[in-house]
Amino acid sequence: MTSLRYISTRQGSRPSSERLTFEEVMLAGLARDGGLYVPESWPAWSRTEIAALRGLSYTDLAARVMAPFVGETFDAATLGRLVREAYAGFDAPDVVPLKALPVDDLHLLELFHGPTLAFKDVALQLLGRMLDALLTRSGRRARIIGATSGDTGSAAIEAVRDRAALDIFMLHPRGRVSEVQRRQMTTVLAPNVHNIAIEGTFDDCQDLAKACFNDLAFRDRHRLTAVNSINFARVMAQIVYYFHAALRLGAPERPVSFCVPTGNFGNIYAGYAARAMGLPIERLLIASNSNDILTRFIESGAQQMTGVTPTLSPSMDIQVSSNFERYLFDLFDRDGKALAAAMESFRATGAMAVSPAQLARARAAFDAGRLDDAGTVDAIAAAKRETGETLDPHTAVGYAVARHKRGDRAVPMVVLATAHPAKFPDAVRQATGAPPPVPARLAGLASRPEHYETLPNDIGALKRLMDGAAVFA
Ligand SMILES: *Cc1c(COP(=O)(O)O)cnc(C)c1O
Repeated sequence: MTSLRYISTRQGSRPSSERLTFEEVMLAGLARDGGLYVPESWPAWSRTEIAALRGLSYTDLAARVMAPFVGETFDAATLGRLVREAYAGFDAPDVVPLKALPVDDLHLLELFHGPTLAFKDVALQLLGRMLDALLTRSGRRARIIGATSGDTGSAAIEAVRDRAALDIFMLHPRGRVSEVQRRQMTTVLAPNVHNIAIEGTFDDCQDLAKACFNDLAFRDRHRLTAVNSINFARVMAQIVYYFHAALRLGAPERPVSFCVPTGNFGNIYAGYAARAMGLPIERLLIASNSNDILTRFIESGAQQMTGVTPTLSPSMDIQVSSNFERYLFDLFDRDGKALAAAMESFRATGAMAVSPAQLARARAAFDAGRLDDAGTVDAIAAAKRETGETLDPHTAVGYAVARHKRGDRAVPMVVLATAHPAKFPDAVRQATGAPPPVPARLAGLASRPEHYETLPNDIGALKRLMDGAAVFA
């Protein structure tokens, strides 16, 4: 069996294009030509093969669905062990519980039972262990640098703490992340975790992280790597829960629809991948907050950059959806050169448009809706009234869009619940008059000791700190 290879979305069409293994893709992150890695083709599952997955535990299902993507990088026993370890710390027996709601054959897929109470744990808990295993077996170490305005930082830190071959340096804008979010990062007192508060904005933090990558000598000296949503391993880990939910609801005999609150298009792209692999997904609904570049694209066929508007669902406050390029690659019939030209012109002019034929295809693949902050508060209150569930503001965007665009009622619709409501107590209090109950994982957070360094917005200071931090063996 020759295993799956990965190509860049901006590859030339020559057959000599780079074809990478899963291991190479994991370690590289972004492709050298500026593109994102995607599988050369999607592993195809027949109806019979999908039916045979029914009844598996979440971890056994995960190992089976991911095996073709991982190829020879991990043998079956190692993959199985990494998956079991990644999900052992989730506080729900089936990792991502599926709840039926008493309206409209709607279901809630709770992706927030990991250590930081948001869906990013599902992919990052596995990614941290996979990276650590790859490095350890070749006697190497690597350092992760990242910038965060909230959820990603704590999920990455929890994924890397206690991993022997990895260190993490996480930059956050001083005084500009919520107290819960800061404490979720700074109360992790592991020797390989370095929290750095930068005297600046989130954009300053991102620029500093990028500057570290762009200094090639520095990058090589520290063997820098990134764990942001452009790493294909994150997409791969997210495909599993679409299979899990669809199988529970009667796939492959019965189709299922999904509604996904999305910002960077990472989560919903995994649903697109699951469909491409043969899972009968009828509709994929994009749910945007006021930062609605994706919804505007599905409406008009044009991507148009605007500024970022801060909302009650901050993890979806983005200007451009980075993972959307992976879908555009298919929409451009995998012509990497044409896509590279379109993306460069998009960066330069802030706008790009596709042809009417391409727009028709995109509309056949996705539907989209949006919800502003006033609607989000209403949706939290409505969901509480209609279903008894307290939703976080991101999930509430999904819930409202799913209700509004319900469509064929014979097909169940699954709303992806991406965060625990306790992470966003202010929005919940505003909607329901009462703060959400505090789960055990957050209890005591306010009294745990914090550790972080504060640095000016200065690349020299950051590099000196990183050069001085415990050097590699
Ligand atoms: C990151 C995040 C999202 C958006 O996920 P994408 O992969 O960017 O689509 C939605 N909700 C929460 C709570 C998140 O943390």
